[in-house]
Amino acid sequence: MHNLSSSPHRCALCNVPLSETNDTEEHIIPNSIGGRRTVRGFICNPCNNNRGDHWDNAVAKQFTSIALITGIKRQHGDVPPIKFEDKDGKTIALSADGQMKLTGKAVVTESVGSSGITTNIRAGTDKEADKIAEGFSKKYNKQGINNIEYSKKYIAEEISEDVEFEFSFGDKGSGKSYVKTAMALASKNGISIDECECAKDFLVNDGYPCFGYYYAKEVLINRPEFLHIVTLEGNPKEKLLLSYIEYFSFFRIVVCLSRNYLGKAFKDSYALDPRAGGQLDIDFNVPLSACEIESLYNCDYYNPEVLGASLKNVLSLSPRKMQS
Ligand SMILES: [Zn+2]
Repeated sequence: MHNLSSSPHRCALCNVPLSETNDTEEHIIPNSIGGRRTVRGFICNPCNNNRGDHWDNAVAKQFTSIALITGIKRQHGDVPPIKFEDKDGKTIALSADGQMKLTGKAVVTESVGSSGITTNIRAGTDKEADKIAEGFSKKYNKQGINNIEYSKKYIAEEISEDVEFEFSFGDKGSGKSYVKTAMALASKNGISIDECECAKDFLVNDGYPCFGYYYAKEVLINRPEFLHIVTLEGNPKEKLLLSYIEYFSFFRIVVCLSRNYLGKAFKDSYALDPRAGGQLDIDFNVPLSACEIESLYNCDYYNPEVLGASLKNVLSLSPRKMQS
């Protein structure tokens, strides 16, 4: 832990001096997607609560479906349930415990035949169906209809697994969260935002988004089944300070913190399995040189086939086996 009283730490976002009263524990990878490890002496409390949370929420929203499907564990709070429609137009809620439930209004149809009234109830749970049936019984009794044979029938609903999976590339808020994550790891390594002109321009001055999707080459040397990772590599030869971020094993970007890096050569990373939270030891190599950064920004290293294959791989881990 940093000793703040003897260090000139300032908030990376608003530049106020950090003290014991306004310093915060900032999650390196957002807690909203399962990150655990934190850094102090990075940003102030107001910036954490305002901008930081706003950006991290954008990331949480972007990955809501996949977080539920893969069953990640948050340090604080459950992943909120998501609602979606299956191919028959039924609304289904998927909650963090992996339970799928029909939501919305229960549907009741009645038919009168020679044998009496048949009430068909389609409801989310047996309990809900019982409650509805009880209400109908009372209604008929009130009307004095006791001599008609009355039967109820539950329609066992098969919930279709054939649902749409939605994923977005996020908005500017999520972009800032990625760069903040890279910057948090840099801060942990004693590098200030003043040494990261690309990150500073984007995060503080709302300048050019200093990252790009990266699906050109495998970066992870010992790839596990499932992970989140953020890496950091200082390369004074290329004058680059680069971070590779991978979320849910399929969302892959490279953040360029600085193109003017003259510090020491080093590597650091933080990786975890977000289903259990356990830290992973992963070796990596980001094969980018200084002259390739413009191509990174121009989306030249985006490859929908690699993205699709890795997403499919992740979804095959899930017990729900949803379609990608
Ligand atoms: Zn601040």
